[in-house]
Amino acid sequence: MTRPKLDDDLAVVTGAKTAKALKSGLGLATVDDLLRHYPRRYLDPGDLTDLDALTIGEHVTVLAQVVSVKTRRTADGRPQKGQKGKRPRTITEAVISDGRGRLTIVYFNQAWRESQLVPGRRGLFAGTVSAFGGARQLAHPRYALLPDDESGDWQLDDDEDATSAAGSAQREAMARLIIPIYPATGAMPSWRIEQAVRLALDAVGGIDDPIPGDVLDQRGYPSLDMALHDVHRPVDLAQADHARARLRFEEAFGLQVVLAQRRRALDALTAVARPTRDDGILAAFDARLPFTLTEAQRRVGREIASDLAREHPMHRLLQGDVGSGKTLVALRAMLQAVDSGSQAVLLAPTEVLAQQHHRTITRLLGSLADQGLLGGEEKATRVALLTGSQGATRRRRELLDIASGEAGIVVGTHALLEENVDFADLGLVVVDEQHRFGVEQRAALTMRGTGADTAARQARPHVLVMTATPIPRTVAMTVFGDLDVSVLDEPPPGRGVIATHVVVPREKPGHLARAWQRVREEVAAGRRVYVVCPRIGDDAPASEDEVEEGQGPTTSSVVDVVAELRERILPDLRVGMVHGRLPAEEKEDALRRFALPAEDPDGIDVLVSTTVIEVGVDVPTASTMIILDADRFGISQLHQLRGRVARGGDDGLCLLVTNAEADSPARERLEAVASTTDGFVLARVDAEARREGDILGTSQSGRRRSLKLLEVIRDEDVVVDARTAAMAVVDEDPQLTGMPALRDLVRRIDDDERAEFLEKG
Ligand code: ADP
Ligand code: MG
Repeated sequence: MTRPKLDDDLAVVTGAKTAKALKSGLGLATVDDLLRHYPRRYLDPGDLTDLDALTIGEHVTVLAQVVSVKTRRTADGRPQKGQKGKRPRTITEAVISDGRGRLTIVYFNQAWRESQLVPGRRGLFAGTVSAFGGARQLAHPRYALLPDDESGDWQLDDDEDATSAAGSAQREAMARLIIPIYPATGAMPSWRIEQAVRLALDAVGGIDDPIPGDVLDQRGYPSLDMALHDVHRPVDLAQADHARARLRFEEAFGLQVVLAQRRRALDALTAVARPTRDDGILAAFDARLPFTLTEAQRRVGREIASDLAREHPMHRLLQGDVGSGKTLVALRAMLQAVDSGSQAVLLAPTEVLAQQHHRTITRLLGSLADQGLLGGEEKATRVALLTGSQGATRRRRELLDIASGEAGIVVGTHALLEENVDFADLGLVVVDEQHRFGVEQRAALTMRGTGADTAARQARPHVLVMTATPIPRTVAMTVFGDLDVSVLDEPPPGRGVIATHVVVPREKPGHLARAWQRVREEVAAGRRVYVVCPRIGDDAPASEDEVEEGQGPTTSSVVDVVAELRERILPDLRVGMVHGRLPAEEKEDALRRFALPAEDPDGIDVLVSTTVIEVGVDVPTASTMIILDADRFGISQLHQLRGRVARGGDDGLCLLVTNAEADSPARERLEAVASTTDGFVLARVDAEARREGDILGTSQSGRRRSLKLLEVIRDEDVVVDARTAAMAVVDEDPQLTGMPALRDLVRRIDDDERAEFLEKG
């Protein structure tokens, strides 16, 4: 018989029945899945579990001793008052204890259990904790009793045969004293998983190690074979830890090998060099810039400029907190592309942002954006705009200008520009406000340069990805490991300071009224105010632009708040609204009027909105933001939102209105946001508070699947070490020809990600 392989169906080692239960309960399909289903923790029978710490509804496995047992007989089979079904004929109750707490376990119509649950016997009990008469209990738990004496047999509950192979595996495991506790379900308790794992470990025998021997030796890590054995069946906890360290390293290593290979593949691509020149549109733009660049902008600008001058495509991530001046950096890069006779495109995540970028860039360029117009400058170019809502005529004209090369800069939404837009010669793709990591960026990478000559046709455009969500270093290494990273870590001078306060109307009713009073004062002083709500409130299905999941009808909505402000609270002010379901012209119109000078009769004083204004919206006179039901938003979202105020040099105010309980996690989040304006500090708080998968974003579910032990933030040193090792391995053998097991690992990671990429569409 040939030995089962890791890719084989589980049924090969466990039999069909167990395989089915493992699949349906825990999603484990292959031998590899099972062996990678690591224990959640280990029980050392010397350490008794604290029975007092059990939570109702939790599925638990506890190690305890039987204290007492009794069986009651009830009136035979009579229906019970107020209850459906028959009353049990017998009720067997045992009290078990771990030396500290006590717990009742109960069985109906299984009086024979009394003979097994002898007081004094110890064992593992598994079941779901429920409440009965104010006390905690396990109803019908499964159990395995420890032997009475050294030579004794394990006594399993009725489903198991103590003399079977499985039974003996369990005996042995328990005799070793360390008991692995697996993530389990009611139908598949921990010790049955343990049995299945044992069968799998014995069956597969030698396993090829994906990590090269010298990499392991340098770090003193065990082989995969040994690590899998030790993680599941350790002799002591130190052995388990050692095994886990190796498996954790393996996760980081596999991922870094994938990224190192991708990087190499990118390096092999060609691009057309787009070097700077000192007599072009960029130079003209710099010369008339009304302010001086920050040192950070200058440094990052140099990094990008030299990337663009190379004959390999740039793949650079530009990180910078809200308001750090990324747009300007991006525009200067785009002008460099234009200077070399090519085109640059800026992809924005929403229509509102695309329109705003178009306005900002046109304004910043001034007469340099007047190409083709009467009185336009010689070095000028045209800035085209492509959005889903524009009319067919405008769209046709823009497409024509893009195809002819007339438009040097093109701004549009991600969605639109990923379709077939014909560029005369696309030199640079800038992807703005990338918080949905990964997917869009990869889509952008597939955009082709479409130059007239063959060389340019095969060449790829340079790519710059921008994000205002600060990404901790190791997450960047993991998620964007195939990109170079630049950081804008210095705000432009003359920014105002934003004070943030948490307002809790339920606790201090007067504070909200005071907030509206403050709004009036700000407006009277010529400033603008945002009011942000978690819901739109017109009850139509949510659009892409909004985050609206799980919003109950009691949370504030734009529609309701606008009505209330206009009628009751601020009847003397001009209140407007913007949200993702308004027609594009109305959105644009509201933002335009909000940006008008205070004395303009057409202006809006207070803009009520959803998170559509979260990124990029830039109205320098906006001084104050009131976020209603602020607990509905995440840390980075609040930070982004708040970044919309104090952009003109005056100080700003942000009020986070909430009725979340004091000391609740939601309140702590809000307090954290109120306590600092440093986006990187908040990103770390955020990352630590959330699960790993959430940091990587929903688009990273595939990567999350392959990361079981590794926690990207906590395990920074592992990630860094694995990256070094991976780069050396890939440099030496780029195709991994000599390392079939590593090739398999890489293929699995790639497959997972591809599957998820296709799901995303
Ligand atoms: P980000 O996109 O990084 O949030 P922006 O690019 O929108 O930030 O810049 C925020 C504001 O700061 C804009 O009004 C921009 O014109 C201005 N700005 C950018 N760089 C400078 C600078 N070096 N000096 C003064 N103001 C700047
Ligand atoms: Mg921006």
